Amino acid sequence: MAKMWKPPGLHQRSYQILRYLQNKWPAPYPVQIRWVKDLVDDEDPEDRHYHAECYRDGLKIIIKLSKRRVRTYAEMSETVIHEYAHARDIKLKRLEDKLDRFAHGPEWGLYFAEMYSDFNDDLGWEVSRTY
Ligand SMILES: [Zn+2]
Repeated sequence: MAKMWKPPGLHQRSYQILRYLQNKWPAPYPVQIRWVKDLVDDEDPEDRHYHAECYRDGLKIIIKLSKRRVRTYAEMSETVIHEYAHARDIKLKRLEDKLDRFAHGPEWGLYFAEMYSDFNDDLGWEVSRTY
């Protein structure tokens, strides 16, 4: 019997998408995805749970994804694109900062729109499967 094709798991697919994005639109530093159990804002009295966060740690950029909040392929791809837009937006002048958080400015918006339309209107979703 022929082996059945199995779709890659959610985590594996997020690494494929990251490799595709890094190849097409390199960020100023190498980017890593880390899946974590949960992401909570400790200072928020309502204990807000985040989907993801992105920050630079030395010479690399870390994207953390929450297993609790990111559960479908659609949520995952949109979240990875959102966070990767932060990664592209990280400025070299911040090299001296050890850890940084990033906002949603105009450059971030352009990067997000470019990658979002690549995934939704062009072939990004398909092509990234080969990465
Ligand atoms: Zn954001």
